[in-house]
Amino acid sequence: MTEQAQFEPEEQRQIRERVAAGAKAVCPRDGSQMTVRSIGGGSFGLGYARRREWLICPVCRRSVIFDLKRGTRN
Ligand SMILES: [Zn+2]
Repeated sequence: MTEQAQFEPEEQRQIRERVAAGAKAVCPRDGSQMTVRSIGGGSFGLGYARRREWLICPVCRRSVIFDLKRGTRN
């Protein structure tokens, strides 16, 4: 794999804010709905739950991984 396209930090922030607000992730480049994959850590023996989500744009193939830390109430 050669260079992988990445979102700009500002774009990542926009996506993160949307997801944090409970909205669907949308690619800021082309407006496509992004595919969300949960990445399981497999270590549930930890004292807190850590979840990662991998958001992939099916159009431009950019992707971004978010760490979602849970353990506080919403
Ligand atoms: Zn895109």
